[in-house]
Amino acid sequence: MTSSDPLLDQMPDFGVRQLLAADLDGRDPGINTSNFAAGVALCPKTLKDVTSIVSWCAETRTPIVTQGGRTGLAGGTTSAQGQLVIMMDHMNTIRDIDADTGVVVVDAGVTLAQLEDAVSPMGLTAGIDFAARGSCTIGGMVATNAGGGEAFRNGVMRQRVLGLEVVLPDGAVMSDLKCVIKANEGYDMKQMFIGSEGTLGIVTGAVLKLEKSIRKRQTVLASTQCAADALSYFHRLRAAFGPKLLSAEIMWNDYFETTSQALGFGGRFGHLEGETFFIADIDAPQDDDGFLEILGESLEAGEISDAVIAKNEQECNEIWLVREESFLIDKAYPGGCWFDISIPLSELDAFVKESTARVHSVDPDLKVFVMGHLGDGNLHYTIAKETPVEHLYSDIATALYTGLSAIGGSFSAEHGIGTEKQTSLGKFADPAKLSLMHAVKAAIDPMNIMNPGKVLPAQ
Ligand SMILES: Cc1cc2nc3c(=O)[nH]c(=O)nc-3n(C[C@H](O)[C@H](O)[C@H](O)COP(=O)(O)OP(=O)(O)OC[C@H]3O[C@@H](n4cnc5c(N)ncnc54)[C@H](O)[C@@H]3O)c2cc1C
Repeated sequence: MTSSDPLLDQMPDFGVRQLLAADLDGRDPGINTSNFAAGVALCPKTLKDVTSIVSWCAETRTPIVTQGGRTGLAGGTTSAQGQLVIMMDHMNTIRDIDADTGVVVVDAGVTLAQLEDAVSPMGLTAGIDFAARGSCTIGGMVATNAGGGEAFRNGVMRQRVLGLEVVLPDGAVMSDLKCVIKANEGYDMKQMFIGSEGTLGIVTGAVLKLEKSIRKRQTVLASTQCAADALSYFHRLRAAFGPKLLSAEIMWNDYFETTSQALGFGGRFGHLEGETFFIADIDAPQDDDGFLEILGESLEAGEISDAVIAKNEQECNEIWLVREESFLIDKAYPGGCWFDISIPLSELDAFVKESTARVHSVDPDLKVFVMGHLGDGNLHYTIAKETPVEHLYSDIATALYTGLSAIGGSFSAEHGIGTEKQTSLGKFADPAKLSLMHAVKAAIDPMNIMNPGKVLPAQ
């Protein structure tokens, strides 16, 4: 018997779980509703499964869309009929933990939360963290070069990965699972795959550096009159605590008010007033005098106007929820546009003010919700109003990105390019860099079967 899908009629039985349209219909597609549009997905569990599937795809020139936790925010996992989705979340074994060296070897489908659960009893942590931790996979984090709130002290995935195992577009395996920091063996090919968003190969395994986990944590939420004041407070904390300053996050007023109200915390944090709100986590015991002293100095200097110090785990979680529940903005204002930019810290205050004015020149009714990772200048904007504004995406993007490259910032900080920022990549990337990117894609994936139509703008 033949099915109505020619891909299914040809496909051999790889001995792995296969999901068809009817199975996929009942599943959460993740961030993008068209993630399952291909209508067929395979769930490999081993390296051998992946090589068999990819070899067949190479023979038949079947396009592959690799998916991890489908939490990516740039549209990199969207699929279409005629493509084959490969779900990596079933390949999820922690292969080895070397607690003395602080190194872990994992399958690509291990989630960040699963990794944390495995290493935290040993006093270790992945050294990278963000709100999608329960679903995002290490393979997806490698493929998007994920960042998060600890990047200002631990780096992004490019700095966390020591080695990689990748199935290449012809089914061959690049096994470069180094467990050491120093390995100068010619071109660092693993870096080519980090941030490549599934367009060059399928990451099946990774070696990651670990950090010592933090035992005591103080969390403070402070209101400041402007981003420049928040930055002064950040610099003061950094000078005082160095690596013990664990997180430094910022929210502008509209964002803070909308999420805290939606969470029902209006009463708890309502007395805080300011243009910006700053969350700092510090590795210090509850009664640490140094921490309170710095808080007093900052209040006296006028850097912060008021503050809440979390007294227990629950209060700490409440403060973090206000920052992390960004989807509450989308619930309140559906149909908005998302942006993910980074700005040199010295330019941050002026850039946000000027870019907000430029966005308002597109439409004065637009609401500009801004928050992000203050420590590294990475800001997330949601721009929305009472009615959907997707049709204004291009105008808003131009307003937001104006002047960004001149000050050394980036229009794509940590979420990647996917399908959402291809036009911007074509517009803002250095032409020589862009043509090198096309050359790399053609060399590694000459048949264009790995996540075709993603990242690179059409030539
Ligand atoms: C609430 C929330 C908060 C977030 N916060 C942050 C943040 O602070 N910092 C940050 O950087 N990101 C953040 N993200 C974005 C997202 O979580 C990251 O991009 C994450 O790294 C994606 O992992 P994933 O497994 O879900 O990948 P997916 O979404 O499944 O895939 C993302 C891309 O990687 C490719 N890919 C996936 N797995 C593989 C593989 N094994 N081999 C090759 N290619 C693969 C896909 O084809 C796609 O192009 C957030 C997302 C959400 C929903």
